[in-house]
Amino acid sequence: MTSIIYPASNLKSQPNLVIEKGDGVYVFDNKGKKYLEAMSGLWCTSLGYNNQELIDAASQQLSKLSYSHMFGGKTHQVGIDLAEKISDMVPTKDAKVFFGNSGSDANDTNIKLLRYYFNAIGKPQKYKIIARERSYHGVTVASASLTGLPVNHTNFDLPFSALGILRTDAPHYYHGSREGETEVEFVDRITANLEQLIIDEGPDTIAAFIAEPVTGASGVIVPPRGYYEKVQEILAKYNILFWADEVITGFGRLGKDFGCNAMGIQSPDILTFAKQLSSGYIPISASVISGEMYAPIIESSEKVGVFGHGYTYSGHPVGCAVALKTLEIYQRDNVFAHANEIGQYMQNQLQTLNGHSIVGEVRGKGLIAAVELVASSTPAQTADVVAFAMRAGQELGMITRAVAGTSLAFCPPLIITKYEIDEMLFILKSALDKTLQYAQKM
Ligand code: PMP
Repeated sequence: MTSIIYPASNLKSQPNLVIEKGDGVYVFDNKGKKYLEAMSGLWCTSLGYNNQELIDAASQQLSKLSYSHMFGGKTHQVGIDLAEKISDMVPTKDAKVFFGNSGSDANDTNIKLLRYYFNAIGKPQKYKIIARERSYHGVTVASASLTGLPVNHTNFDLPFSALGILRTDAPHYYHGSREGETEVEFVDRITANLEQLIIDEGPDTIAAFIAEPVTGASGVIVPPRGYYEKVQEILAKYNILFWADEVITGFGRLGKDFGCNAMGIQSPDILTFAKQLSSGYIPISASVISGEMYAPIIESSEKVGVFGHGYTYSGHPVGCAVALKTLEIYQRDNVFAHANEIGQYMQNQLQTLNGHSIVGEVRGKGLIAAVELVASSTPAQTADVVAFAMRAGQELGMITRAVAGTSLAFCPPLIITKYEIDEMLFILKSALDKTLQYAQKM
């Protein structure tokens, strides 16, 4: 037993893999075994491992200024430059950026920015947030309350009721549709539920609707065509803001610069970024709001004084330097166009698994996908089969992740090549064959 309380783990079992180094899309364990990292760690290492430019950006910044903060009148150039670059890139007008350390704390910040904004415009009663079933927004008390997965609530006494989180349907056709229901009917039904929820609660009490353009941790849910269009129509009708949690989908993952652009979401009011912002080389996140939200916030802070929110590491200079270099590389090397092309190749290759007797559905967009397994009758058995498939892949030299107890997730670095996708598919097919044999013996 080590002295670590392991995150998102069964605390009774100890890890079976010690990762020691990484290079490109591969990592190596402490015995020298090589693995294709088909999950980019936790959906984050977009430029792969051992990228010399990112290493140099970090080490140069460490030598120059290893720490400085942004509280009460201080700033630094690399932070200003990064905020400017993010503001230029995002699909939100006159965007303003607050830096944090993780996706979870960035979502907490956005909850506070929403409250601050509605207090500033004299609507303190407009504080509730609509979040979806099966969404993932983090694990701090507030962000876990936004999250719609029981595992993140059970025994933590969450969601925290004072936050006023309302829950609406996940746009998950495979699991959520009724017998014989078409995709169009499914979208009509769940968006009608959304509208009814708004009417029942009172539109004047609801601040925002939060969504991951495509979900990750809850099983890579790609909403059916037309879903976001309908959702946005409803939100506009009742003056409710759209908040895009782009912690996974931001910066190329869906084959476009942002998940909003890939999914037809028009000018989101609020955005959350982390992970691929620094290619996972160093913790940094960004909470982004529109200029329209920011203007009354500054006006009111003249009245209320200090904006009483900030982390010791908000805008850590090393995080900012690495993130700035990451964004420069994305643009210079046309990484998003590559992700689009190679993403289509990955999706096509994965679709060939559809005939496999253990595969229920293959879904995804760009360079993110899930392979849903169907071999067993109970949820516990399915989870066991998925865990087996993940271990089988690992034995064969590929790292993937079991998500939602039903699926294997894929989210390789954006720099992955066709050859490496072929290798991934080859290993996956062997792992699924072994899994089928395992499931048949259950
Ligand atoms: N939002 C989304 C969409 C995420 O996928 C995650 C992490 N998987 C988070 C928020 C939380 O980020 P972090 O783990 O950095 O706190």
